[in-house]
Amino acid sequence: MRNSKGSIVRPVPLPDSVSRPVVTPLSPSVVYASDTPDALDDQYEGRVHGYTYSREGHPNADVVAARMDAMEGATGGVVTGSGMAAVTCVLMGLLKSGDHVVGGNQLYGRSLRLMAEDLPRLGIATTLADPCDVNSVRAALRPETRMLLVEVVSNPTLRVADIAGLAALCRERGILLVVDNTFTTPRSFRPFEHGADIVLHSITKLLAGHSDVMLGYVVARDPTLNEAMRAFSVTTGLTPSPFDCWLAERGMLSFELRFDRAQQTAAVLADHLAGLPGVKRVIYPMRPDHQDHQRARELLGGQGCNMVSFELHGGRSAANAFTRAADGLSFAPTLGDVGTTLSHPASSSHRALTPEHRARLGLSEGFFRVSVGLEQPDTLCDIFAGAIPATDGA
Ligand SMILES: *Cc1c(COP(=O)(O)O)cnc(C)c1O
Repeated sequence: MRNSKGSIVRPVPLPDSVSRPVVTPLSPSVVYASDTPDALDDQYEGRVHGYTYSREGHPNADVVAARMDAMEGATGGVVTGSGMAAVTCVLMGLLKSGDHVVGGNQLYGRSLRLMAEDLPRLGIATTLADPCDVNSVRAALRPETRMLLVEVVSNPTLRVADIAGLAALCRERGILLVVDNTFTTPRSFRPFEHGADIVLHSITKLLAGHSDVMLGYVVARDPTLNEAMRAFSVTTGLTPSPFDCWLAERGMLSFELRFDRAQQTAAVLADHLAGLPGVKRVIYPMRPDHQDHQRARELLGGQGCNMVSFELHGGRSAANAFTRAADGLSFAPTLGDVGTTLSHPASSSHRALTPEHRARLGLSEGFFRVSVGLEQPDTLCDIFAGAIPATDGA
């Protein structure tokens, strides 16, 4: 390790071991060393696999991609630095000036913003339509429409898209059907089995599950689209960090258990809320009183989702009193955490809308969305029962 002028800086020899680590090693190396220029030729020309520079790919991203691919029944997916980076990869990596894209009218807020502000600036036209109503989507189509982007269960009103109708329409018109499967997750819905062409995720939410890492993923059925999205991601630097991938993989190991548990508790909580006098209405797709119940049963199988929305009697003061009294729950605008979180669309995700627009969507000041976590069902029901009467006359 020494020469006459001091110590060698690199490479540090790795200790020998005939056994292997059980846990995926974290590989933060930005660059990878090769033996010879010939060896690099072999790598770049695809005769052997090797890493070169981590923006182009690294082991921790590939491990997450392989897990996601397996869950979605796909190959060649791309892991990105956030869910929005995955949305960007699809929309900006595959569309060009002159194209038209249709989006669900209740997409995630930043997806809506990308469609409303950024795509038009680049010459890509966008239209929003109601994904629960195929005729609304059909009416939005143009000869130059290339893509339809929808979520299966909408936020926060939990409407269920007519995926079968939309898939048939897209097939008939030669349009790519893109499904943001973040809310439903591959545990309750596998879009490729229902005619989707591209599936994307915010891994940040339920899949990683601990609110300590941002990550996204996108995969197409067609390998040439995957290559185009991978190239766009590498060029524009949407690549994730090895540490984020490593943390996300750790969360994903318990994803199925967490999801099953959270959605079972969500069903219990939804019924419990419906029986509380301070609650005006409960929205849960697996309840028979839900507007899209039949479709939810067909699409989501027995699994449902971990999201429950409800409306309190009373306005903002009732909402304030409730969050103050809901001890042990985080009032925080995210979803999929191990702990139950409450979100109040009127003051967060939907605050930019006019009160009239919110009223059209049914989002009063008493409206809350609950992302159910891993608390015991009884504990959770007790917290809500204790906090909701506090809104009486507030
Ligand atoms: C959170 C979310 C996104 C964006 O993901 P980030 O990881 O926050 O960038 C996209 N779609 C849906 C449905 C989401 O809930």
